[in-house]
Amino acid sequence: MVESRAPLVGDDTKHVGFLFDPVFLEHRTPPGHPESPRRLKSILDHLSTSGLLGRLRSLPVTPAPREDLLAVHDRAYLEELALPGERYLDPDTFISSRSREAALAAAGAVCSALDSCRAGEISRAFCAVRPPGHHAEPARGMGFCLINNAAVAARHAQRIGYARVMIVDFDVHHGNGTQAAFYDDDTVFYFSTHEYPHYPGTGAASERGTGKGVGFTRNIPLSSGSGDAEMRHAYHDVFRAETAAFRPDCCIVSAGYDLHEGDPLADLAVSDQGVREIVRTIVAACAGMPLVCTLEGGYHLATLARCVGITLEELLL
Ligand SMILES: [Zn+2]
Repeated sequence: MVESRAPLVGDDTKHVGFLFDPVFLEHRTPPGHPESPRRLKSILDHLSTSGLLGRLRSLPVTPAPREDLLAVHDRAYLEELALPGERYLDPDTFISSRSREAALAAAGAVCSALDSCRAGEISRAFCAVRPPGHHAEPARGMGFCLINNAAVAARHAQRIGYARVMIVDFDVHHGNGTQAAFYDDDTVFYFSTHEYPHYPGTGAASERGTGKGVGFTRNIPLSSGSGDAEMRHAYHDVFRAETAAFRPDCCIVSAGYDLHEGDPLADLAVSDQGVREIVRTIVAACAGMPLVCTLEGGYHLATLARCVGITLEELLL
C-alpha cells in the first residue's frame, strides 16, 4: 500500500525510514474500540496528502525473529497467543484471527528499522504499527498490547551490535511491560513520562529499577492537567541528563500521542507544539545514534495523524 504511493526514485537519499504493512489493519477490535485500524488509515492519509510520505524511505516489514521474542516473552505466553479463536485477553484487549500475525509484524517492523540503521541505509525511522506494545509484559498481554514491540526491538538491537539501548516512552500511559522487561537490567534504560495516577497504575517516581538495574529506570509521573511546561522540564532537563550519563548506542521511542490535550482517553494537556518540542529534544539528545519510533497510543484520529506528521517533520530535520 505504502510502496505504491511512495516514489522509489531517489530513495537512497532519504535518511528517515517509514515502516507500515497492511497486516497491521488485520488486527481487529470490537466495534467502538478506540484502538482500531482507522488509526493507521488516518495517519497514512495525512502523510500522503501532506507530502511527508514522499520524503520517507519506505521499508519492508518482516516478522520479529523468534530469538528476540523469546528474549522478552515467556514461551508459554507466545504459545497462548498462537491458539486459534477470537477472544479477549483482558477486558480491553481483543485477539482476532490475524492479531498474532499483526503483532509479530509490528515488533518485526521495529527490528527491521534497526537493521536498516545498522546497514547505514537510514539514520532514523517511524514504525506505524498496531497493535501497540508497551503494556505487554513478559508473560501477559494487556491494555490493547500483545507483544512488546519496543522491548523486543531493544533485545534485537543488542543482538546486532547496539550494546546500550535507551527506550523513551512519551505515551500518556506508563509502559509497565517495558519497565518489567528491563527492571533489573543496566544495559537498557527505560525513561517514561505519563499521567499518574492513571492506567495501568505503575510508574511512580520511586520505581527506579532493582539489582544492577537500579538507576536505569526513570519515571516522571505527571498529574492530570500537566502540559507543555512539565514536559519541557522532563525532556529538556531530565531526559537529556539521563541520556548523557547513560551514553546509549541507539534509541527506541515509544511514541504514544494520547498525551495530547485532544485525546479522549487521558487528561494531560500537551499541545501540538509541545509534541514537537518533546520529539525535537529527544532527537537532539540522541544525535549521532540510530533513533526508531514505534507507535503506541493516540486515539483522536485527526490529532494522532497530525502529531505523527509533526514527529516525522522533526525526524527529517
Ligand atoms: Zn497510551
